[in-house]
Amino acid sequence: MKDKEVKVLKDQRDRRKRVQRIRTGIITFISVWMILSIVLTTFMCVKIVSLQKQIDILSGNYDDSGEVQNKVTGTAGDTADLLIQTTDDKDNLAQEGDVHQVYLTFDDGPSDQTNEILDILDDYGVKATFFVNGREDEASIAAYKRIVDEGHTIAMHSYSHKYSEIYESMDAFKNDFLRIQNLIYDTTGVECMYYRFPGGSSNRVSNADMSEYIRYLNDQGVIYYDWNVSSGDATSQAFTVDELVENVMKDVVKYKTSVVLMHDANTKATTVQALPTMIESLQASGALILPIDENTKVIQHTSIQK
Ligand code: ZN
Repeated sequence: MKDKEVKVLKDQRDRRKRVQRIRTGIITFISVWMILSIVLTTFMCVKIVSLQKQIDILSGNYDDSGEVQNKVTGTAGDTADLLIQTTDDKDNLAQEGDVHQVYLTFDDGPSDQTNEILDILDDYGVKATFFVNGREDEASIAAYKRIVDEGHTIAMHSYSHKYSEIYESMDAFKNDFLRIQNLIYDTTGVECMYYRFPGGSSNRVSNADMSEYIRYLNDQGVIYYDWNVSSGDATSQAFTVDELVENVMKDVVKYKTSVVLMHDANTKATTVQALPTMIESLQASGALILPIDENTKVIQHTSIQK
């Protein structure tokens, strides 16, 4: 009788141990599976973001941003005759008492936002510079005209804005350049002499030798402008209105001449919302807001070494 009870107890204990082992096994399996899933998902997300960026670059949707500029600052690139100026332009550092000259520039337009940007600039009696792309629909043509009629500077930012096309070869660059220059001339009568490279003159996105394109523009007497202040509206980070204003205000005080990079694009509503506060803050600080003209100090990330 006693032996039987002992056996039953032993059986029960063994069963409990087996159940415990199975439970531990299941929990371990689920835990490992979950950790693997999280690792895999994170890896996939990172991969997707990087692929999306490459797609954007190839399709020309990649905006000009400080990110690109920062990546190359301090490296002269593989082209011996290119010079990075961004870091060593001491002449442009503001001294106490200097009046800050600020050039607001809008890339990538015309867009659905252009008229609103122009309305705001008009409200404040401020002139800016629009680095436009080539669009031939009625609204875009009206936008080119309005930019010019209202006294702003119209400037070129390539026709297609597609890196893979523009920087494919010298011929492709030339064709694109002439296309946007002619479109602006035909629609506004302005012989446009200002240019901004998609991605900036320091862009390495395209792996192109920028020196030959720079030389071409120099030969045409066309001045290309980069920027030394970025609102940040083209970076992957989504800034709030206040942050965009802060990004600009904190850098503008450093320089005598600030060329501020912003975007006139359908997806950049925050830029438009930030514009009134930005103008008010600049004006309150005593800064002069001006459109780019022949007297404007040239701000370039790279130029041909003289
Ligand atoms: Zn652009």
